[in-house]
Amino acid sequence: MTEIAIIGGGIGGLAAAAFLRRAGLRATVYEQAGRLGEVGAGVVVAPNAARLLRVLGVLPVLQERAVPLEVGWEFRRWQDGRVLSAEDLATKCALLYGERTYTAHRADLLEAVRRAVPEEDVRLGKRCVGLDGAALGGDGERCRLRFADGETAVADVVIGADGIHSMVRAALTEPAPATYSGLCAFRALVPAGQAPAFARRPAQTLWLGPGHHLVHYPVSAGTLVNLVAFAPAGGYTTESWTATATVEELLAEFDGWDRRLTDLIRAAETPGRWALLDRAPLTGWSRGTVTLLGDAAHPMFPFFGQGAAQAIEDAAVLARCLAAGPADPAAALARYQELRIPRTTRLQEVSHARAHVNHLPDGPEQRARDASFTDVDPLAASGWIYAYDPEAEPAVG
Ligand code: FAD
Repeated sequence: MTEIAIIGGGIGGLAAAAFLRRAGLRATVYEQAGRLGEVGAGVVVAPNAARLLRVLGVLPVLQERAVPLEVGWEFRRWQDGRVLSAEDLATKCALLYGERTYTAHRADLLEAVRRAVPEEDVRLGKRCVGLDGAALGGDGERCRLRFADGETAVADVVIGADGIHSMVRAALTEPAPATYSGLCAFRALVPAGQAPAFARRPAQTLWLGPGHHLVHYPVSAGTLVNLVAFAPAGGYTTESWTATATVEELLAEFDGWDRRLTDLIRAAETPGRWALLDRAPLTGWSRGTVTLLGDAAHPMFPFFGQGAAQAIEDAAVLARCLAAGPADPAAALARYQELRIPRTTRLQEVSHARAHVNHLPDGPEQRARDASFTDVDPLAASGWIYAYDPEAEPAVG
């Protein structure tokens, strides 16, 4: 039986293990951390991701602590909070796409996916430091994995789900250093009891202003408000989930904005801060029996809230392809990238373009943008994202 190794036990890696298991294939996840967990930040679980959690049977686990949104993409003007556009998610989302949209703590999303994977399929404290085999120009049909603790493992198929700094990607593709985007992100959690009432609503609110934007929504059964803000990076280049800033630094970026927003920032706990680096889409990410998934394959700016959703979709399609052609895994992985690259590239591109649109200085272009918000029904226009069904993809080319 084909042995599949998944490097990385984040949302993407665990989703891959879950979908492979569902397809009757066995996989082992190798995660470098000593325990599974996510650093504190929120995530929007759009209908395309919720549908796949339902397929895995774990949507009820997410629902225990996730917040079903009633309002989505509620764009507000920076100075006075005027609503420029909003999606009605309470009544229309499930009607159009069969599922609600949720906001969740990333740890709650990870926990939901983890429930679909037996504990014995996950090896913790296993940092992969080397990979060789025929697919990478070495000897031997099977891949050999080396871990920092000196252990080795062999596998017929290797899936690099090891995130934005992927070592599997570095082994597979030509080195292409990330470039400086000029933007940085701050994130913070605010205890709901200290947050202004408007921020506790089941709404995903986005404040747009010159050079900056800020998003907030409730998570953790409404006990916390997640806040993420984007601002010019200046000389800041640290891309780390654990680097921090001060509330004063974050406040200074939003000086003069609507009072309700600055009150929310003032109530924040120590914000995290990281630089957004830019990476061009790959034209291929499978070589022989080695492939990539999630942020390792297609890191994207977080402006469409689709990074984790795309990792889960990758997992579903990859499992379908491998299950349809178990005798020829290299062909299955080639099919997987053929099915996935057009969609993930499009999402990388639209997410990238949003950096400009969301940060327009006040003036004619900003006024045209704000006017355009009323021209289309934003929820219906997102059909290409939310209606996608990996289960309908033709797994054999
Ligand atoms: P990761 O979550 O990075 O997981 C990689 C795993 O691999 C980690 O556990 C790591 O420890 C492990 N690993 C790394 N190297 C090794 C190694 N050598 N050996 C073993 N293990 C290793 N997405 C959404 O869908 N909706 C949102 O609303 C949303 N909001 C976001 C907001 C922000 C501010 C940001 C930054 C991202 C957001 N995303 C969102 C994106 C989403 O968080 C990521 O796309 C998603 O977490 C990617 O999952 P992954 O499993 O591919 O990678």
